[in-house]
Amino acid sequence: MLPLSVWESESFFSPRDYIILGSGFTGLWSAYYLKKHHPHRSVMILERGIIPSGASTRNAGFACFGSLTELVADCKLLGDKEMLELLEMRFRGLKKIRKMFGNHRIGYEATGGYELISPAQYPDVNLLRTKLDQLNAQVRKITGIQKTFRLNDAKIKAFGLSGTAHLIENSEEGQLHSGKLCEALLQQVQSMGVTVLTNTEILKMESSGKGVELFSNLPVVLKAGKVLVCTNAFARDLIPDLDLKPARGQILLTSPLEGLKIRGCFHYDEGFYYFRNLGNRILLGGARNKFLKEEETFAASTSAPVQEELEKFLREIVLPGRSYTIDQRWSGTMGVGKEKKPIIKKINDHVYCAVRLSGMGVALAPQIGKIVAGMM
Ligand SMILES: Cc1cc2nc3c(=O)[nH]c(=O)nc-3n(C[C@H](O)[C@H](O)[C@H](O)COP(=O)(O)OP(=O)(O)OC[C@H]3O[C@@H](n4cnc5c(N)ncnc54)[C@H](O)[C@@H]3O)c2cc1C
Repeated sequence: MLPLSVWESESFFSPRDYIILGSGFTGLWSAYYLKKHHPHRSVMILERGIIPSGASTRNAGFACFGSLTELVADCKLLGDKEMLELLEMRFRGLKKIRKMFGNHRIGYEATGGYELISPAQYPDVNLLRTKLDQLNAQVRKITGIQKTFRLNDAKIKAFGLSGTAHLIENSEEGQLHSGKLCEALLQQVQSMGVTVLTNTEILKMESSGKGVELFSNLPVVLKAGKVLVCTNAFARDLIPDLDLKPARGQILLTSPLEGLKIRGCFHYDEGFYYFRNLGNRILLGGARNKFLKEEETFAASTSAPVQEELEKFLREIVLPGRSYTIDQRWSGTMGVGKEKKPIIKKINDHVYCAVRLSGMGVALAPQIGKIVAGMM
């Protein structure tokens, strides 16, 4: 590596007020709010990939509000208050995304969301109706909508789904193009004066009374007054005692299907299975709950057992009797923990972190970025 010129050390590699690690949705929204609140302070993002290379560009593109069985499970885990707080963050986050970029630029479509209920899940439809009424009453305080969730069994046949006793429609959900959203956010923060260095992997950080020194693959020690760690599942490399572990999510994408009737974002089994149309193709992901230990991995590959399970679900439930090929398969790494809510934390006077957005980061990240920027 060549020694640095004075121009390099006094520009690209100069000390910054704020350095953010990771250019996924969380890092980008945090940069947006830091720069918005402090236009005269310098903000830099360091990203180890050539492009944002975490879950934000490898997910399913659900502008995800939540499904009944998932929210009921969240209530058991977190209690009513925290479940609703998370839901409100998603609701506000989705509004912010659409207001900032409009629908066209990020491929947003207000398709609505659906949840498939199997015959075994709710054998008594009256119990399901009671749950829906209870949830709608809670959600009304957030959305102002009388019935966010409603039974719409007529659409089971219209969509051509099999193995489904009931279908719950959710008016607040939509789908978007995650790559376009990430790129739009990146362009937005750069237009505000945020410097982004890619191909820069932070290996170690050291805090002192003055700020933080960052050691990376670059031939220079980068310095910041304050650092925000937004490296998701990888944050324990830098902050070891976080309650955080990796959870690989796997996806497959079919070939185009002529006359495909399915349109929208679909959830099944507490959100552990999810599928949507992408034009006239089906994007399907999940099944991690069947292989929890195996999928607790940083491996970036896909695995045969999960892909076979997804193909079975596709064949039996989503596209019964149709022929297609699988054109693409990929995986991404989520950050999860014992608690199903993000970690937004001050580590010391100079280091903060915002991580563990699990499978909800699209909608949550705007609010997480706003909160952590306010803390800093
Ligand atoms: C398969 C899959 C499907 C999903 N589907 C959805 C969905 O439909 N809707 C939804 O809301 N959410 C979904 N999610 C979750 C969502 O993608 C995440 O919650 C969200 O992207 C997290 O954003 P983030 O910025 O916190 O993390 P990331 O996007 O993971 O960003 C972290 C960044 O840090 C970088 N990095 C890591 N280590 C270092 C280092 N040492 N130095 C520098 N940079 C580093 C990484 O390269 C990465 O770009 C899904 C996730 C997966 C994996």
